[in-house]
Amino acid sequence: VVEIQNVSQTFGHGELAVQALKPTSLSIEAGELVALLGPSGSGKSTLLLAISLIQPPTTGRIAIDGQVLFDDGPTGIDVRAFRRQKIGFIFQQHNLIPFLTALENVALMLQLNGVGRRESNRRAMEVLGYLEIAHRADSLPAQMSGGEQQRVAIGRALANEPALILADEPTAALDTERGTKVMAMLRKIARERRSAVIAVTHDHRMIAGFDTVYHLDDGRLTQVERSAEGAEPG
Ligand code: ATP
Ligand code: MG
Repeated sequence: VVEIQNVSQTFGHGELAVQALKPTSLSIEAGELVALLGPSGSGKSTLLLAISLIQPPTTGRIAIDGQVLFDDGPTGIDVRAFRRQKIGFIFQQHNLIPFLTALENVALMLQLNGVGRRESNRRAMEVLGYLEIAHRADSLPAQMSGGEQQRVAIGRALANEPALILADEPTAALDTERGTKVMAMLRKIARERRSAVIAVTHDHRMIAGFDTVYHLDDGRLTQVERSAEGAEPG
């Protein structure tokens, strides 16, 4: 579902240039649950931002769901529209809109893709149910616990049934128990909905049950571990 070839990212020019990401290649199957580990400054966020073309890379080729989005430069695809439909994001802080309820936060993502109000509310409610948080549908973010907020944020990322979900330290603001639960939700999504999921984390305890673990160090992929049970392609 995701094909990344020789993607690199250099910030700055001339003597001040920093190659935050060395040429990196990897591919991810539908339904594969991937962890990205590495020390601070190793390029984890840079890689996610490049894959999603929020911050296009300096070099490389990126294909998602059969579309070549970048090939050493823009390919003419409407990247913003593609991202809205095919990629879901979860951040360290939930970034929910504070004056919208849980349901409205999720429904908004559908409305941005042209789904009507009734239908988007119905589907948002379904997503909240799936994440076991339907009872919080009418709560504002400030009225929910950190773990609940993060599950709503997952719901928002999930609403459009994206091919790819990118999560940048989604458990960093949570205690181990809540963090583990959030990771379990991501696993469920990969297994049942067949989205590819890439989750950045510092915390080795959070990656139980992941199919593949990539280690980044100083902008370089240093190690790849695949679990025995693995994500069999298909
Ligand atoms: P953390 O675990 O702290 O979030 P990270 O692995 O996500 O770290 P990145 O944010 O990807 O690290 O940063 C990798 C390197 O690239 C760092 O040296 C950082 O200072 C640099 N960097 C990131 N974004 C930019 C930018 N927009 N301009 C210049 N340098 C940047
Ligand atoms: Mg980061």
